[in-house]
Amino acid sequence: MRIYQAHIIDTPTPSSFRIFENGYVAVDDDGIVVDVWHELPLELVHRTADPSSDVRLIQLGDRLLIPAFCDMHVHAPQYRNLGLALDEELLVWLNRYTFPEEARFSSPEYAEHIYRRFVHELWMQGTMHSSVFATIHPQATDLLCRLFAEAGLSALVGLVGMDRNAPDNLLNSARDLQDYYQTHHRASSQSVFPILTPRFIPSCSPEMMRTYGQLVASYGLPVQSHLSENRSEIDWVRQLEPESVCYADAYRRYGVLGQTPTLMAHCCYSEGKELEMLRDNHVTVAHCPTSNSNLASGIAPVRTFLNEGIPVVLGTDVSAGHYMSMLRVIQYAIQVSKLHYARTEGQLPYLSLSEAFYLATKAGGQYFMQAALSEKGTGSFEAGNTFDALVIDDSYLNYDHYTLEHRLQRYIYIGDDRDIRIRFARGNQLPEPIL
Ligand SMILES: [Zn+2]
Repeated sequence: MRIYQAHIIDTPTPSSFRIFENGYVAVDDDGIVVDVWHELPLELVHRTADPSSDVRLIQLGDRLLIPAFCDMHVHAPQYRNLGLALDEELLVWLNRYTFPEEARFSSPEYAEHIYRRFVHELWMQGTMHSSVFATIHPQATDLLCRLFAEAGLSALVGLVGMDRNAPDNLLNSARDLQDYYQTHHRASSQSVFPILTPRFIPSCSPEMMRTYGQLVASYGLPVQSHLSENRSEIDWVRQLEPESVCYADAYRRYGVLGQTPTLMAHCCYSEGKELEMLRDNHVTVAHCPTSNSNLASGIAPVRTFLNEGIPVVLGTDVSAGHYMSMLRVIQYAIQVSKLHYARTEGQLPYLSLSEAFYLATKAGGQYFMQAALSEKGTGSFEAGNTFDALVIDDSYLNYDHYTLEHRLQRYIYIGDDRDIRIRFARGNQLPEPIL
């Protein structure tokens, strides 16, 4: 067992930070958190002083120890397009920039070049868990899974399904999906898990959506997709699926809304019946505020979701989101919620920093745990969770009169990956992945 001493901060509940100044966290040999203390129990004081004991005390000094981040909506093949064409709206951005780039992943060499950089950047930004869209290409998707496993990062990885309204070289078929999941319905390693990934209703014919419903029923796999991101997209879905009462209903009617852990990105316009449907089907919303701002999509009513008991997690949505850091997503989540608050004349409170931090850590970990059928949570230092953590050296930002909460606030708003000294995943210190 190892015991780390540092300033430990996490959010077991969203309402406030839990802070252990010069506290202790014990991690067992399987990488599971045993407990967290303000003072080390006397028995452990003796054991750490005994050189023959198997308990080691590791002092991390005047540094912050926080949970690693969970990016619950990100497109790996769009990594090269980061920062590109963000003065467009969704459908133009997709057709002119995103689809041509994704088509290049038919080449395994190209895929390896980009995916190595993508995985490296997740490591760099301290994102130890993610839910990832790949492309329609099985070989490139397998490669991405392998790179995650080699890096020691946890991921839900989805082969994308799309059989209409895209260039021919980006279409697959219901049959391709059946073939793929026949051999890919189990974890490909200790940390990498499959997730069904219909791109969105406009890309998937009724036949393909029925196949997704069958795959959910046969294999019990989780689902991720996009929902109610943009007004023109919603109008389009209304034309494509006239029998559905709302966009979410189109997924529900094919049996891919809540039968298994379901993650829907955006939900900027989910209200009324759709809101009830998300709640009643236990759907998790992946809120992507950088993306929603860049593509002028809208502001998701996150406070309403939380009030309704709908779980919310955060995602970068790279490359509609322009930055891989979850720090930036936390900031944007708070900023857009403040704009929403101002526009609605303060009817609903905006997100606090501890709430947004919770969404980027423990809430993401909870969805991951359900989707990976794991008994171990992540995203906080509660006993029984895997120890996925970042050691933050904020000495250049830190002045005497700051409390630990002030130091965390400053790190979140003005810090970056250079401040991360050590990254832990499942108890292991992670080396930098090979580029
Ligand atoms: Zn997306």
